[in-house]
Amino acid sequence: MLAGSLAGRMMDFPLTLTHLLERARTLFGRTEIVSRNPDRSLHRHTFADFHRRSSQLAGALARLGVRPGDRVASLSWNHYRHLELYFGVPCSGAVLHTLNLRLHPTEIAYIAQHAEDRVVFVDRSLLPLFNQIVEHVRSFEHVIVIDDGTAHALPGGSLDYETLLARESTRFDFPDLDERSAAMVCYTSGTTGNPKGVVLSHRSTVLHTLVQCMTDTAAISENDTVLPVVPMFHANAWGLPYSSICVGSKLVFPGPHLDPTSLLDLMATEKVTVAGGVPTIWLGILALLDQEPKKWDLSAMRTMLIGGSAAPASMIDGFQKRHGLGVIHAWGMTEMNPLGTLARVKRDLRGADDETQLGLRASQGYPVPFVEQRHADEEDKILPWDGETMGELQVRGPFVASSYYGGEGPDRFTADGWFKTGDVVTIDAEGYLRITDRSKDVIKSGGEWISSVALENALMSHPSVLEAAVFAARDEKWSERPLAAIVLKEGKSATGAELGAHLEGRFAKFWLPDDYVFMKQIPRTSTGKFLKTKLRELHGDHLEKKKAAR
Ligand code: AMP
Repeated sequence: MLAGSLAGRMMDFPLTLTHLLERARTLFGRTEIVSRNPDRSLHRHTFADFHRRSSQLAGALARLGVRPGDRVASLSWNHYRHLELYFGVPCSGAVLHTLNLRLHPTEIAYIAQHAEDRVVFVDRSLLPLFNQIVEHVRSFEHVIVIDDGTAHALPGGSLDYETLLARESTRFDFPDLDERSAAMVCYTSGTTGNPKGVVLSHRSTVLHTLVQCMTDTAAISENDTVLPVVPMFHANAWGLPYSSICVGSKLVFPGPHLDPTSLLDLMATEKVTVAGGVPTIWLGILALLDQEPKKWDLSAMRTMLIGGSAAPASMIDGFQKRHGLGVIHAWGMTEMNPLGTLARVKRDLRGADDETQLGLRASQGYPVPFVEQRHADEEDKILPWDGETMGELQVRGPFVASSYYGGEGPDRFTADGWFKTGDVVTIDAEGYLRITDRSKDVIKSGGEWISSVALENALMSHPSVLEAAVFAARDEKWSERPLAAIVLKEGKSATGAELGAHLEGRFAKFWLPDDYVFMKQIPRTSTGKFLKTKLRELHGDHLEKKKAAR
């Protein structure tokens, strides 16, 4: 009962993915889905085929005895059959659990067992990895192989995806689902402790889809051709497959071919308008475009969505100035379905000089509708939006996790209903967020916080630097001092002194790295973020050693 107020008289229509699936069939049957196979050939079919096959998949799951709420795992690249799992599994009432194939096999096994996955779908090309996992997962009852044309031997007792589908009717009577029921489980990348399960509901995913399509966010429309480079096994490919199916945009999947040349070929030949991926992917693409600026016709490209870790301003600027390509920087988390903020320049700030505007576009942006943000200090005091005070970001909203699977990590949720992101940020008076660090990676020197992300951004604007990661090294006097790990561009050189000079004047003196270590590669997590725990493990004693040697 709504005491003292008039109840709305609108339908309580459930926000489920089934509506999006039906919409694909009834409104956009001819829209194309293109996938690159492991042998580099292209598979093409339509939304009508997608609907038919997702229905057959739901029939096959029912025949295997999969019940509502059961977890069904996928170990797959981005392709049309993974898309069928994205809909066929949740719309049948089960829960899709996307396994991250970049994790260590023992970690994948831990996650699959933790989620108690009953059924697992695996790409044939990934069987060598799967074989290292399967015997450690007691919950697996059925193994279904997606034959992608590779020749790996099939595991005993496994079933073939196409054979299962072929048996089923192309019409499935999808059940009425509660919008609050689980659609997917995605595990966090585990930069802090064991990976934890985020259980996305139909409702949260649908709301996220609507928000992602808005003109002022990613602006995904029927007119678009969307290339999710971000893996479907990580944070549900940022929700891009759901948004594309919702509005009827053509979908292009790269399969296992994520090298810059393959991606640029796909973008040019399929006339991609929106592509989303992590900075590492885009850095590789930018370097190749700089080498061969005329090779690919990217005139169709409208938006390159970059997120997952900080996009350096120099990269955003390089794409725009040298290649006329527009980048939108976004921040999000698995715990948020995953989009949180997006860096568009507000109308009255567009008059600012180029550098100020670039600063805004290289920030993490301001929240999308239905994401609320605040930041707090170590004593939980809420901090001012002054663009300077650093604190841990907290968020809330209808597509933010309220707890983890199994109730793990309760300390990540505040008593008054906010989620503690673990990101250290500043927020300015306009609401623009700037991530200065992961809370576990902050550098605290003499009691003051130093932003490694700001230093990394500045270092990556040096013409010789491909990548830079700044991390804390132990120091007797200051307890921690910043140290920079540097990867140089091929054929380029720079000394520590030159890099120091490049930073001078831009930051307070005590922020400048005490030293520079040159590496071939910076260690990364499975989802492409700098693995600073590893850097600290390798070089945390660098300054102490250097001192001792003097
Ligand atoms: P995941 O759940 O694996 O997507 O990781 C989420 C984390 O990635 C966030 O908490 C941030 O630390 C980091 N992250 C995501 N997007 C960005 C971004 N645009 N800039 C900086 N860090 C980011």
